[in-house]
Amino acid sequence: MSRPTRILLGLVLGAVAGVAVNLATGGGPGTRRFVALVTEPAGKIWLSALIMVVIPLILSTLSMGVFGLGDLRRLGRIGAVTLACFLALTTLSTAIGLSAMNFFRPGENLDPAVQSRLMETYRGQAQEAMGLSGTALSMDLLVKIVPRNPVRAAADGDMLAVIFFSLALGVALSVIPREKAEPLARVLDSLGHATVAIIHLVMAVAPVGVFCLIFSVTARFGFDLLISLFRYVATVVGGLAFMQVVGYALIVRLVAGRPVTEFFRKVRVVMITAFSTSSSNATLPTTIEVGRENFGLSEGVAGFVLPLGATMNMNGTALFEGATVLFLAQVFGVSLSLGQQVVVVLLSVVTAIGVAGIPAGSIPLLMMVLAIVGIPMEGIAIILGVDRILDMCRTVLNVTGDLVTALIVDRVERGRAA
Ligand code: ASP
Repeated sequence: MSRPTRILLGLVLGAVAGVAVNLATGGGPGTRRFVALVTEPAGKIWLSALIMVVIPLILSTLSMGVFGLGDLRRLGRIGAVTLACFLALTTLSTAIGLSAMNFFRPGENLDPAVQSRLMETYRGQAQEAMGLSGTALSMDLLVKIVPRNPVRAAADGDMLAVIFFSLALGVALSVIPREKAEPLARVLDSLGHATVAIIHLVMAVAPVGVFCLIFSVTARFGFDLLISLFRYVATVVGGLAFMQVVGYALIVRLVAGRPVTEFFRKVRVVMITAFSTSSSNATLPTTIEVGRENFGLSEGVAGFVLPLGATMNMNGTALFEGATVLFLAQVFGVSLSLGQQVVVVLLSVVTAIGVAGIPAGSIPLLMMVLAIVGIPMEGIAIILGVDRILDMCRTVLNVTGDLVTALIVDRVERGRAA
């Protein structure tokens, strides 16, 4: 059995077992205890083992990626194409999310009893998230991109700062004389290979890790919630699926010039990993491996585009943010004009760049967007209970978008070389 098939099996078995246990026990105290003591810790250990290698992986792939590009003009060109793709894809996704919400309008007839029950149940969690949202988008975010202390930035998980330092290191290696650059480059290269070896080990037990993660979510999940918010969830998931299956397919075919079925076959393991971990960062090691091995991307392109994408390119998150702002506006009877909706698109695109690639990373930023457009922030409580399911789906889009961008950059670069 191939690795993607085994992981898929873990995913399906975990989901089936979790739903079965949930239906049989109603997600009661026994189930909660079992999840808290067995499957959740096991899943978390697996997830941590993947996230453990993200910092050394970003440091080595990004700096070696920049070094491997050869000259700085090429870096500027690739950087410009990459950022343009990130922005275009994110804007397109957000527009799809808003259009779907405008069309289906699931917020207009949400049962008021359901609404107040949800607000009541998730009030505490919403308040916690509100505390985080104050600092979510401020000038500080921009200032912190340049770290005073790269070691602390790495310890705090400030990915943009780690990226900045790694880029600077790669640039520095490219401008100093070759014989001076060579020793450090070899160390970084060797670090990169060692991290890949760790990833292989961790991914060998991925079916078990994925089983545990999915089981933990489904065994405890409130499926009755899913039913009461069915129209909202279906609209967001439908928008995500549309972008994934139609949007990306067209872009892969027409812009990146690659066959679509082959693309989805090769990207499958990345999609499954993203779905089960809900984390772009945890998926990054797999994304890089697939980019290099399945799609034949060069060290330079894969090493540059994919780590940047895992942090900055969040197409699914932006779609979810835009759609949710509109949904909550409908619930609270706030009507947003076309101009205000354009502002929502812009804010979703900008905030998605600052979202951390971890489970529920977007919630604090989403709340900030709500506050800016004048929708009660505590309304987030309405959707918190179903967020995990949406998070799994939007993360798939986030990481697939990184590979789509890498393929476009690859085509542009090959075109220039030819
Ligand atoms: N979980 C998402 C990711 O890692 C971020 C989010 O939308 O919350 O890509």
